[in-house]
Amino acid sequence: MKTLKDFNFENKKAIIRVDFNVPLNDKFEVTDATRIEAAKSTIIEILEGGGSCVLMSHLGRPKGKQDEFSLRHIVDDIKKIIGVNVKFVDDCVGEKAEEAVANLEKGEVLLLENLRFYSEEEKGDVAFAKQLSNLGDIYVNDAFGTAHRAHASTTIIAQFFEGNKCFGNLLAREIESIDKVLNNSEKPVLAILGGAKVSSKITVIENILDKVDHLIIGGGMSFTFIKALGGTVGDSICEDDKMELALDILKQAKEKGVEVHIPVDVIAADDFSNDANTQILDITKIPDGWQGLDAGPKSRENFDVVVNKCKTILWNGPLGVFEMEAFAGGTIALGHSIDKATKNGAFSLVGGGDSVAAVKQFGFAEKVSYVSTGGGAMLEMLEGQTLPGIDAILK
Ligand code: AMP
Repeated sequence: MKTLKDFNFENKKAIIRVDFNVPLNDKFEVTDATRIEAAKSTIIEILEGGGSCVLMSHLGRPKGKQDEFSLRHIVDDIKKIIGVNVKFVDDCVGEKAEEAVANLEKGEVLLLENLRFYSEEEKGDVAFAKQLSNLGDIYVNDAFGTAHRAHASTTIIAQFFEGNKCFGNLLAREIESIDKVLNNSEKPVLAILGGAKVSSKITVIENILDKVDHLIIGGGMSFTFIKALGGTVGDSICEDDKMELALDILKQAKEKGVEVHIPVDVIAADDFSNDANTQILDITKIPDGWQGLDAGPKSRENFDVVVNKCKTILWNGPLGVFEMEAFAGGTIALGHSIDKATKNGAFSLVGGGDSVAAVKQFGFAEKVSYVSTGGGAMLEMLEGQTLPGIDAILK
């Protein structure tokens, strides 16, 4: 796996695919700069190595050239975060971009305009990728968030940098972290899968059954399992058409020696609302008119024991409707359990889908070993898929 360490950037121009697809408010201010911060280490390392950086990214889903999606809105934020001046050119290919790159000096950073102003980007157009490749000597991919897309700047461009392409620090860390969980893990290994639906996680579950010793199934997903096992789930979210699948997963887990842990009690509510009446119920005995919206106290205790037995922990998906304060307790308790296990030497990885939002909201981002930056990309890796953006560098 080639990384920045394998190259001498002295007097070289690195063209870096970053993921600066950051959220902006209506004043075009960046409301969450995590993705810019995540690219800092790569940019600084290349500048310190005597090189210069040409940054390319997409922002939002523009239809052609639309100023509201211009990357010029975020230039000042990048300057502030990276701590160096950032030049900007209002195109990402063609004469203007090539001239800006030609004028770029050692130690300087240039940001190109939004790649998605050209439909060729998402189409993975080879001629467009070739044009982009004219803008640097070494191609660095540091955009995990788009590594599962075979776009021109994330994948197709790599073919023009035979022997001169590598992963940036962020992408390398993402790959190493997931490898530490799925392939080179210290046992016992635990996967915690929560969230709303079994159907959205089925491929993940099937792939990780071969990799883990323990599996916690929590959140809305658990009710499909409970009902399939003969329990009564009341008005809880449940996918009746996935009950057979749930039983099959449990059978496969047994055959593979994976211990499956499902909540035993829930915080049940008489309405899907923060102000609903609530009661703690046995998860197998939820009457009509009530729905389970969070893991109950006994389940939290049980999960704490499992988490603290394990040396490798993967967490994807909340244990309850964490967006409502009344039903965030189970997810918070799990965060504390993982924090404790991590302090005691376990490796913990959080990622995939929306899990990151929960972890950040409750202040656990600094307490786990690694928080993945790519929702969809991480899920595809957990499903066992090869990501085109990663493959293109390895080839
Ligand atoms: P996912 O994107 O699949 O990880 O699902 C995350 C969503 O699952 C969050 O928005 C939660 O509110 C939701 N969720 C978790 N537990 C439950 C539950 N018991 N009932 C309904 N929704 C849930």
